[in-house]
Amino acid sequence: MKDIGFIGLGNMGSKMSIHLAKAGYNVSGFDIDNKLVDKLTGFGINKENSISEISKNKDIIITMLPNGKIVNEVLKEVLNYSSNFPTIIDCSTIDVKTSKSLYDLLLSKNIPLLDAPVSGGTIGALNGTLTFMVGGDKEVFDEMAPIFNLMGSKSVYCGSAGSGQATKLCNNMLLAVTMIGVGESFNMARNLKLDLNVLYEVISTATGSCWSVNNYCPVENVGPKSPADNNFLPGFSAKLMSKDLKLAVNAANQVNSNIEFGKKAEQIFTKMAEGVNGEKDFSAIIKEI
Ligand code: NAD
Repeated sequence: MKDIGFIGLGNMGSKMSIHLAKAGYNVSGFDIDNKLVDKLTGFGINKENSISEISKNKDIIITMLPNGKIVNEVLKEVLNYSSNFPTIIDCSTIDVKTSKSLYDLLLSKNIPLLDAPVSGGTIGALNGTLTFMVGGDKEVFDEMAPIFNLMGSKSVYCGSAGSGQATKLCNNMLLAVTMIGVGESFNMARNLKLDLNVLYEVISTATGSCWSVNNYCPVENVGPKSPADNNFLPGFSAKLMSKDLKLAVNAANQVNSNIEFGKKAEQIFTKMAEGVNGEKDFSAIIKEI
């Protein structure tokens, strides 16, 4: 079985790494927060104490880190210390530019890199039902399919390096815009004294239907169970949505793409992220608009 190093064992990485260990891979973990790694040793994950340690003798190195600056620093350190030529899979959500430049740098040292951000949140990570959007070389993607299949239920090859990140940003920008639209629609309906369950019944099969209404309706006791039924906790926080929207705005600016609604969504979610509800699920935006 292959040796895997997993760097970044927070809300997502801790759960994803366990699927690999359960499947029999020899998994080692490193996180700057020591306690997180200690909690995982009971699940068969070996503790490593530094990037230099975890970089040695691995076939695959997976990163699940907060942002592009950290991924950049960590992967450059991995490059310094790796003793062979591991395949690197970066599952963090980061900016397209950093992702592409890391691909070029690592390729120049014969180390393949896939950008493979995920959708599905912590529940998807726990249940092994994440969707991976993957950029990089197709042969490397095919080779890594068994790894994606253990941590997720779907992995899609999106194209050359950076395409996974770009796909994720397009998806999340659309999600943010639709959730604001759903919030406005349901708030207006409430002010017009409509029955919101009846509204849901109509919209969910009418032309206004979308994932934000059908699967994740931001109103308590309306539609299937969602964070709105639990005071918007836990979920995909407004802080993370704001982060993704900033990345989307940057990516759009770099290619002169007009994203009027995307930019407005970034302002709205950033305001929420900086306020008292920043940790709440992004669908709580209905309360902020
Ligand atoms: P998190 O903050 O819970 O985990 C990140 C971990 O990285 C932390 O444990 C932190 O200690 C560790 N870390 C930071 N710097 C490090 C370093 N230099 N070396 C080693 N470890 C370091 O974040 P998360 O929620 O697990 O998210 C991780 C990534 O996944 C982010 O890019 C996020 O945007 C993306 N993502 C998160 C979700 C979600 O629902 N949480 C969903 C989709 C994508």
